[in-house]
Amino acid sequence: MSKLRFKAVEEAYKKKAVAVSAPEQLTSDYYGRYVFNKDQMAKYLSKETLDALINVIEKGETLDRGLANHVAAGMKMWAMERGATHYTHWFQPLTEGTAEKHDSFIEYSGAPGSTIIEEFSGKLLAQQEPDASSFPSGGIRNTFEARGYTAWDPSSPAFIVDDTLCIPTVFISYTGEALDYKTPLLKSLNAVDRAATDVCHYFDPSVKKVYSYLGWEQEYFLVDDGLYATRPDLMLTGRTLLGHESAKNQQLEDHYFGSIPTRVQAYMKDIEFEGYKYGIPLKTRHNEVAPNQFELAPIFGETNLSIDQNLLIMSIMKKVARRHGFRLLLHEKPFAGINGSGKHNNWSLGTDTGVGLLTPGKTPEENLQFITFVTNILMAVYKYNALLKASIMTAQNAHRLGANEAPPAIISAFLGTQVSAVLDKLEKSTSEEAIVLDAKQKMKLGVAKIPEVLLDNTDRNRTSPFAFTGNRFEFRAVGSSANCASGMITLNAIVAAQLIEFKKTVDEKIKSGLAKNKAIFDVLKEYIKISKPIRFDGNGYCDEWKAEAARRGLDGETSVPVIIDANTAPEAVKMFESVGVFSERELHARNEVKWETYTKKIQIEARVLGDLVMNHIIPTATKYQSALLDNVYKIHQVFDKEKAVKLSAHDLGIIEEISERISTIKSKVEAMIEARKVANKIECEREKAIAYHDKVLPYFDEIRYNVDKLELIVDNELWPLPKYRELLFIR
Ligand code: ADP
Ligand code: MG
Repeated sequence: MSKLRFKAVEEAYKKKAVAVSAPEQLTSDYYGRYVFNKDQMAKYLSKETLDALINVIEKGETLDRGLANHVAAGMKMWAMERGATHYTHWFQPLTEGTAEKHDSFIEYSGAPGSTIIEEFSGKLLAQQEPDASSFPSGGIRNTFEARGYTAWDPSSPAFIVDDTLCIPTVFISYTGEALDYKTPLLKSLNAVDRAATDVCHYFDPSVKKVYSYLGWEQEYFLVDDGLYATRPDLMLTGRTLLGHESAKNQQLEDHYFGSIPTRVQAYMKDIEFEGYKYGIPLKTRHNEVAPNQFELAPIFGETNLSIDQNLLIMSIMKKVARRHGFRLLLHEKPFAGINGSGKHNNWSLGTDTGVGLLTPGKTPEENLQFITFVTNILMAVYKYNALLKASIMTAQNAHRLGANEAPPAIISAFLGTQVSAVLDKLEKSTSEEAIVLDAKQKMKLGVAKIPEVLLDNTDRNRTSPFAFTGNRFEFRAVGSSANCASGMITLNAIVAAQLIEFKKTVDEKIKSGLAKNKAIFDVLKEYIKISKPIRFDGNGYCDEWKAEAARRGLDGETSVPVIIDANTAPEAVKMFESVGVFSERELHARNEVKWETYTKKIQIEARVLGDLVMNHIIPTATKYQSALLDNVYKIHQVFDKEKAVKLSAHDLGIIEEISERISTIKSKVEAMIEARKVANKIECEREKAIAYHDKVLPYFDEIRYNVDKLELIVDNELWPLPKYRELLFIR
């Protein structure tokens, strides 16, 4: 095995960058070539069909069979001209990534055995029934109703990957419950659109629609594929379960924004080339903080589309990595002791009239609107901070949140000094003052008191899980491997619910005789007071914050299975039902899936760890120990006793240490196996997940600690697993 390790390292160092034939074209020339976007639709659909389809997309009108047939015919022609022979409904089950089942376009023209033709009807475009009984459903589908169906989401355009036309779809059970991420996402986007549009009408009655926007920043690691192949832990769990820190890792801060290694640069170019063909507006690429860690970010876009694009690029990144002799690691914490990977979700709301609702305005009215939205978002995040955390918490992400690098496992919001100052000023102002101002200055009530907010981009807090960054909030707690929809569903839903409540309260005040702006002011002032505990501008990493957050009543739970409880808390169920995003049954089912997934992840890791330790580490350590014993024995043969004792002291020390560590490791592994056996007998998914968290997981660190110590003393030539210094510094 160690020979394998050396060979893998040797080959990794020899590898050269794969030349990417840079297209001799402008990006804009081939951008979106494989997407059935509006431009392409205009070429392949009649004007009538296109107009009807745009109504479906923009106004949410239902898609009738006749229209579906027309669209399918145009789409088929477009796809076949670009080499497609197959089609698939592309959906997002409650696993990681996406699912697809390809069908060819071919059909018999008549009776079986007759000529073959290419067929693609509106029926096949609009709806499919994948045999979906093995996707996680949390018990929603009993075996007798095991089939779910997928239905086209016309708001996200179809695209061609290789020879297959991919149609973005939702995935629903026959009883109507969502089995995927897209269904509730679309519902949450609809909810926030309606609620925010209503609130916008206080300021501008011409607003017809509010869009939710998302710009994700995808962090990732690359490792050489030969080295990856010799690390069963990376292969099976996506992270290293063992490995001593490299003497040098990120201490010198020389990787962040450093010059991009040639092999990696070639890889990045290749991803961009692929991404542009799918109309993914990739904009930024750079080295991240940890060695071998990088980031990729597009220009933000409408949330539903942006999420589909993120899922597509994650799969492209995985495939393209192979071409360059890399493996892509999207795990949130592939290596201990250095930064993990997140996926900051830059989120904002904007109107169809082109106004960013989180962008400070130029006029006092626009600023009042801005403050209204910021304050309501703070209120929502304050009320539902535990729920927001639950939306992004997974077994993998738990290694980031709460560790000393990423945002802590406490949700708080950072506003920056200027916006904070505006809110503080507003909170202290009296309504009377506002009225006086109005009378004297003939300005709209009190609005003049909101100063123009000029944002300073240097005013940033990198530790905040939810930070205002000038024209958006940056939800930083999201994990790198996540489907962004998970967090976006909850964020949009809580903001929708909050805006509805705001509107109701303000309307009541108006009804009871208050002027509109005074009513808005009064409610905002109240909200600013109530939501204060969520505002935190300090260092989120320190222990004082944990204590302070607890005093403020913010959720500080760190156990993943318990954090997830927030999804089915009575106030969460009420909120999700009120905005039409989830039913109670769906929430319970999804939690079952989350607990089950958590258990399985820890179970697999525990097995891999046990195997590696018993089959790789202990035999290697024993071999080295035996060599040392041999040496000691020979020393005693050659030298007189007194001298021999002196000369073998060092070896004897190591021999003893190895014995001690091996026996500790063995007993911990046995105890871990026992704990698993006990946990496996538990029927309730929640209790089982808790047992895995409380009783199984703690052994990981204890075992690892001893193995990593062995790594330091065992002969380097014998050590079977590529070390951190070999995995992390490939150029
Ligand atoms: P950072 O400085 O935070 O690392 P990046 O440039 O890496 O910034 O990424 C910022 C992301 O935020 C990009 O995807 C960008 O398009 C997106 N973004 C910018 N403005 C908005 C907005 N108003 N709403 C949503 N996303 C936005
Ligand atoms: Mg950022």
